[in-house]
Amino acid sequence: MHELSLITAMMDLILKDAQSRGIRKITRVELKVGEFSGAYPHALREAFAVASRGTPMEGAELVIEEVPAELRCRECGAVFRPSETGWACPSCRSQNVLLQGGLELEIQSYHGRDGDVGQGRSGQGYSSGEQEEG
Ligand SMILES: [Zn+2]
Repeated sequence: MHELSLITAMMDLILKDAQSRGIRKITRVELKVGEFSGAYPHALREAFAVASRGTPMEGAELVIEEVPAELRCRECGAVFRPSETGWACPSCRSQNVLLQGGLELEIQSYHGRDGDVGQGRSGQGYSSGEQEEG
């Protein structure tokens, strides 16, 4: 699965960063995923659930912000969504367009805490159980 290698690479980055900051438990990960990034949010979630098992990220909440694809016409400046019929500008029919959104695939942020799991007195609950999917 394509998404599994993507999520593994992202987790690697986060885990290394967390380690350097002394964070032992990651509670929340926020990703930005563009419509044209080639990754599907539901597949990313499944891959995350599998790949995070046994890591400090297990049980973390995965938040995915989906970014819709957006094109901008270089001739008239119109901003529009690509359609099935093509990427031509709907107002001037120019094909001189620029993809300005929708390719994102990045880590927005992550939240974690240091110290031992279970000692936190903040409201953030920790669950080691399986997460049910809708
Ligand atoms: Zn145009």
